[in-house]
Amino acid sequence: MRIAVIGAGFSGLAVSWNLLNLKNQVVVFDLFLEGASAIAAGLLHPYVGEEGRRSLFATEAMQKTEELLHIATRSLREEVFREGIVRVAQNEKQRKTYKNHCVVFRDIIDLGNDHFLIKSGKTVFCKRYLQGMRLAIAERGGQFITEKIADLEQLKIFDQIVVAAGASIRDFPELEQLKLRFVKGQVLTCEIPIDLQIERSLVGKGYLATSHNIGICHVGATYERHDLTETVDLLNTQNLLFTKASSFYRDIWQLKPIDCSSAIRVMRQGHYLPVATKVSNKVWIITAMGSRGLLYHAYFGEKLAQAIEGRSTLSFQELMYYLK
Ligand SMILES: Cc1cc2nc3c(=O)[nH]c(=O)nc-3n(C[C@H](O)[C@H](O)[C@H](O)COP(=O)(O)OP(=O)(O)OC[C@H]3O[C@@H](n4cnc5c(N)ncnc54)[C@H](O)[C@@H]3O)c2cc1C
Repeated sequence: MRIAVIGAGFSGLAVSWNLLNLKNQVVVFDLFLEGASAIAAGLLHPYVGEEGRRSLFATEAMQKTEELLHIATRSLREEVFREGIVRVAQNEKQRKTYKNHCVVFRDIIDLGNDHFLIKSGKTVFCKRYLQGMRLAIAERGGQFITEKIADLEQLKIFDQIVVAAGASIRDFPELEQLKLRFVKGQVLTCEIPIDLQIERSLVGKGYLATSHNIGICHVGATYERHDLTETVDLLNTQNLLFTKASSFYRDIWQLKPIDCSSAIRVMRQGHYLPVATKVSNKVWIITAMGSRGLLYHAYFGEKLAQAIEGRSTLSFQELMYYLK
């Protein structure tokens, strides 16, 4: 089949890779300006969210993302991630949850002083990862076209169309029936002074994520429901995020913000699982990765590719079964 994919963020690349593996021809359209995937802080672990509960499908989803991380690393010939994330418990409830996780799951170690090492956690260097996946897809015969698709009619020569357009899904009236919500996020890029060393990403109230450059980290992120423009406000964002981060990283005010980026997260109404489904005769959608894009894109990308091939079905109904 000849398949068009709109969007080369985490979701679009994961679907494209899996469609190519199933012997399809794939053409990916994107303007390659920075979408949510390019500015994401890169935290990948199964315990996303304030409550720190293990996410649904976490085991298989982590495994699928790890496979893609290795594929990207091989193509790019550079590391695209770093192992280990430290979660700092902020209250008694979180402390209890994480102490319990140490017993129930094998990927958490109590380091003492409310610090818990999530061994399976990784910090992904998102721009490098995207670059590595694009190379891998191109090596496998996938084609990239720098173009914004304004109307699905433009793609009528294709057998199937996958919309992986992130927050720009709002531009396609055909997809209005999906019940989604949109939340803006701003994240800071900061210089780390020479006398400070941050070995691993830290998650507490907000987070501090390392990058491939040991002198640079990311501090995130805001959750803004009322302003859905992509404007940035470095000073206010710094005040807000540094104040929160000071509860788990006392040297936070020594970091020097040098940039602030923003993007819009897409979420499903009522649950954190993404949407990966057929919406009409030949149009498929993968979206609503929320704050778990790195956790879920590879797993749901593979599921969607299999569904397009008719090898499995993946529908809201099937997912709702797991949500009961
Ligand atoms: C500040 C912030 C920090 C985050 N940090 C993390 C994190 O640490 N860990 C994590 O797992 N998740 C994180 N997330 C969430 C994560 O970024 C998203 O879940 C993920 O990027 C969604 O990927 P996507 O491919 O679905 O969408 P996107 O990354 O938005 O990709 C959509 C792509 O489609 C393209 N596109 C859109 N419309 C068109 C069109 N009409 N024609 C052609 N191309 C089009 C865009 O250019 C874009 O490249 C963060 C989000 C934000 C906002």
